[in-house]
Amino acid sequence: MKLPMTAAERLDVARHIEKKIPRQRLAAYPTPLQSFNRLSAMQSGPKLWVKRDDLIGFALGGNKIRGLEVMLADALKVEADTLITGAGVQSNHVRATAFVAAFAGLDCIAVYWGKPPPNIDGNYRVTTMLDAQVHFTQNDDRASVDGAIETIADRMRRSGRRPYPIPRGGACMMGVLGHVLAVCEAYRQCLELAISPDAIVIAVGSGGTYAGWLLGTKLLNLNWRIIGYSVSRDPKEAGVQIARLANQAAAWLGSEFGFSVMDAPVQGGFIGPGYGIPSPEGANAIKLAARFEGLLLDPVYTGKAMAGFLHGLDSGVFDACENVIFLHSGGEPAFFAGQGEWLGIHPRVI
Ligand SMILES: *Cc1c(COP(=O)(O)O)cnc(C)c1O
Repeated sequence: MKLPMTAAERLDVARHIEKKIPRQRLAAYPTPLQSFNRLSAMQSGPKLWVKRDDLIGFALGGNKIRGLEVMLADALKVEADTLITGAGVQSNHVRATAFVAAFAGLDCIAVYWGKPPPNIDGNYRVTTMLDAQVHFTQNDDRASVDGAIETIADRMRRSGRRPYPIPRGGACMMGVLGHVLAVCEAYRQCLELAISPDAIVIAVGSGGTYAGWLLGTKLLNLNWRIIGYSVSRDPKEAGVQIARLANQAAAWLGSEFGFSVMDAPVQGGFIGPGYGIPSPEGANAIKLAARFEGLLLDPVYTGKAMAGFLHGLDSGVFDACENVIFLHSGGEPAFFAGQGEWLGIHPRVI
């Protein structure tokens, strides 16, 4: 395969990819690529652009919609009648899946690790309202979700139903293909704006989003460095998973690219107390982004990635960069879960 070298050749590759990947569109694209300069100017950093996937106009948006558009096309093709997936109770992915299922007239089963929470709030409130059936594994091990999804799907198949299992967090080859399409979209926007980003900053959970951006930039031969901040896994473990997912998607596209963990560096240090638990650095980053840029980030993913980015600005990681794109992957419903003690805010009553 010849690497594209000019804009015209890159656009050709993008069109080819877009034709090849089946997608059931749920929203209008592109999402805005906006310039935000108060935050990075504060630190005399690079020009900051934010890719607003939080504004995807379906089901409260977020990166999960991109993957689900590809999965929905596949689920409809195989005439599935139920989407089954799982994660933590505040999962954006589960909420988005419940929305997609309801919209497409399919049933939805949500599998959560652990026990039912005391409050029906945030994403869990939305998923519950959408009438998804919920199952708790009663086990705090996140991996307990994987077996439960399979067990429930098997049981349904035996009773004549047609379940469509989606792996925990939406981390699968189909989802990665949705993020490859996001790179094609972002590339066109960068051409229009006449910018070439030096780095793309993203939050890394299960790694599907990173895998899609990694593969997409490789296919278009773009030297955009992907800088991912882990919010859950050990960075090395996340890198292994990213390489595996990118390889599966590359093979599906008939590409000869192969990735190893070396191609998928992930930054650690910003997980805080754990996955889904707000960190003080993340809370600070959320306040800064809101007050300086009018941007609401979430405590589980984008707030922690922004904390990593701000630290990177401070410590010179981005010194050689002219333009950096921060992917706002959504997740705001989690901001409204619970009492928000972690923010350390008090009403300024006068
Ligand atoms: C799931 C999610 C991510 C991370 O995406 P992965 O593909 O799981 O790495 C980032 N931001 C938000 C808001 C998410 O919901």
